[in-house]
Amino acid sequence: MNTLRRYVFRLAFSPFCFNFVSVLRGETISTGAPKTCPQCGVTPALKVCKSAAGYYIGAWCRCGPYSRESFYYPRKDLAEAALRSGHWAPR
Ligand SMILES: [Zn+2]
Repeated sequence: MNTLRRYVFRLAFSPFCFNFVSVLRGETISTGAPKTCPQCGVTPALKVCKSAAGYYIGAWCRCGPYSRESFYYPRKDLAEAALRSGHWAPR
């Protein structure tokens, strides 16, 4: 049982799970997904996030990754500059 729980925990924080979650939700905050997570009630702030595919502008709530708003950037400073300017390429 313990092993299974550890496995589930690891899965929940893996990039695979993130992709799975964003496919499930299918929407970004800018295209109409609710600003507040219906499951945990947190209103996540946009920030620069990192995944296996690169850096992106997205939001995390208590459940984990909430949305990805931008395409992947190859460098963190590019994503930060886009977030600061408020102009980024939507995914
Ligand atoms: Zn949540």
